[in-house]
Amino acid sequence: METNNPISLYIHIPFCAHICAYCDFVRVGYHQDLAKRFVVRFKEDLSLRQGQMFKSVYIGGGTPTALTLDLLEEVLLAIQPFLTADAELTIEANPENFSEDKIRLCAKFGVNRVSLGVQSVQSRLLQLIGRKHSLQDAENVIRQLRENGIDNISADGMYGLPTQTVSDFQETIQWMIDQKLPHVSLYALTIEPNSAFGRKHLSSVDNSLEGEFYQLAIDMLSAAGYDHYEISNFSLDNKESRHNLTYWHYDDFAAIGPGASGKENHRRYTVSKNIHRYLSEGIRYDEEIVLSLEDEMFEFVMMGLRLKAGIERKIFSDRFAKDIPDVFFGAIEKNTKKGWLKLSDTHLTASAEGRLFLHDLLIDFMEVEITDA
Ligand code: SF4
Repeated sequence: METNNPISLYIHIPFCAHICAYCDFVRVGYHQDLAKRFVVRFKEDLSLRQGQMFKSVYIGGGTPTALTLDLLEEVLLAIQPFLTADAELTIEANPENFSEDKIRLCAKFGVNRVSLGVQSVQSRLLQLIGRKHSLQDAENVIRQLRENGIDNISADGMYGLPTQTVSDFQETIQWMIDQKLPHVSLYALTIEPNSAFGRKHLSSVDNSLEGEFYQLAIDMLSAAGYDHYEISNFSLDNKESRHNLTYWHYDDFAAIGPGASGKENHRRYTVSKNIHRYLSEGIRYDEEIVLSLEDEMFEFVMMGLRLKAGIERKIFSDRFAKDIPDVFFGAIEKNTKKGWLKLSDTHLTASAEGRLFLHDLLIDFMEVEITDA
């Protein structure tokens, strides 16, 4: 099997100024000494990749903007030699701690995309889920980003929150449209057992209400000119997340930081989630899987069908030396008859309904036995 350099890099900064009620990510409350040790360790990990150049780097977390100005500067400075000339450099930010001096610093170091954790425009819902920002904070950050030349802004929104009504969510989507944000990502609340919500035994909203929220967002954003290019993502003017397209195109991506997952050279890994272990030991993985050809063909389909554009048959055959219907003939035929899939000379795509039921659709692809791979 050939080996390639990954084309994207994900960096996980595991600090948050406070912990949200629904959160089950790898994160700890901000602590300056730990943050300093993290940045030293991050630079060591990054230096192991000397000579690699990334088309996209995504600084996520956690909350990267929880870092103090000097530590954020160290992170941004360290990344510079690894960026291609036209790289997309994204930082995740929470409105309450993305101060103007941090925004200026980001602009100075070439951050050209910001993913902003807005979630909702109702202060009662923000309080309920443990977010500390106000709508005014979010609007100020968006204005300051634009004043500093960072126009490529994505907002995260959540639906299915406790007590959230359809009209609450409608207001949130309308606000995103009014702000002319070029990218919107929407997520249904999932109650994770290790979150504060999980410990209080809250349950998620029922499927039909969740479907109503989702359909409302699709209708409103589509009418406003957004392209629903991926199941949970919408873009204006082709401002898709280039970084996330790496995942959906099943290309290789590197990962640095506790709990970060990468895929490189037919191997998927998750770095140790334990932050103290991460800081005190060499690189440790909680999970490391060598991907078989069968795994990779299935995962390629699983990721590619999330996209409205679907899978380019030529890319599949270039990568696996097989045409996609030769591998998955039965699954494609069955789901084409249901109206969930369409196979053209160039592409395999899922219909809007197929993407809605992607989980069910993929079961047929899992059952395929590849005999001569
Ligand atoms: S949801 Fe995001 S900001 Fe909130 S605690 Fe989790 S990682 Fe931090």
